[in-house]
Amino acid sequence: MQELYQELIIDHGKRPRNYRRLAAPTCSHEGYNPLCGDRLNIYVEHDGTCITDVCFQGEGCAISMASASLLTQAVKGQSIVRAEEIFTLFHQALTLGKVDMTDDLGKLEALLGVAQYPTRVKCATLAWHTFKAALDCRKSRVSTE
Ligand code: ZN
Repeated sequence: MQELYQELIIDHGKRPRNYRRLAAPTCSHEGYNPLCGDRLNIYVEHDGTCITDVCFQGEGCAISMASASLLTQAVKGQSIVRAEEIFTLFHQALTLGKVDMTDDLGKLEALLGVAQYPTRVKCATLAWHTFKAALDCRKSRVSTE
């Protein structure tokens, strides 16, 4: 199982999915992990309820790229509420080692192996914090409208 997970990370790290940018995203954010030098931009397009498109571009280690790639696959087509739920579940699983077995993280579970390497956790969570920050920008903008 562990080997399978490693293959998945290497595959996504080498050939990240949804690796592109949006010309006019609903929201976007840049993330940087100085510990490792990972840097990426996340672009989100949504209609206020549902995430219709999400993609990213950047440079970094295999784990940061694989995590961003898996993120785009996990949240694309989901409601914003569900996407935030996935963020919370994933973040808790990585930082607290808490895995809610009633909720299936799917391929994201491949990344949970890095939980035992604290410096790599930052690589795995970078895309997620960046994604969350992009969504939060939307909120502040919406509330002032
Ligand atoms: Zn990294």
